[in-house]
Amino acid sequence: MKPVPKEVMPHGGNSVRILWQDEHESIYTNVYLRESCQCAECIHEWTGEKLIPPGKISPDVRPISVTSVGNYAVSIHFSDGHQTGVYSFDLLRKICPCSLCQAA
Ligand SMILES: [Zn+2]
Ligand SMILES: [Zn+2]
Repeated sequence: MKPVPKEVMPHGGNSVRILWQDEHESIYTNVYLRESCQCAECIHEWTGEKLIPPGKISPDVRPISVTSVGNYAVSIHFSDGHQTGVYSFDLLRKICPCSLCQAA
């Protein structure tokens, strides 16, 4: 079954919480989400190399808006002006930082 979020909401000021349809809960810090952006500005198209220099992302970065893209992804507009990132549900579930997912 494909992972589909039931709710995406800000969590405690510096994080975003996703509640999935299978009742799994993921909590991502804003910085972690911003750094996980897969757009051409953040990840090299061919090599997959991260193009964000370490320390570049402000620790205060936060999502200003989250918009659904089709029914497979969300696009996130960040407070640092970055808005080209599209986060597929597959990616979001894959990068879930919880101990269960990290152990898998
Ligand atoms: Zn990006
Ligand atoms: Zn998880």
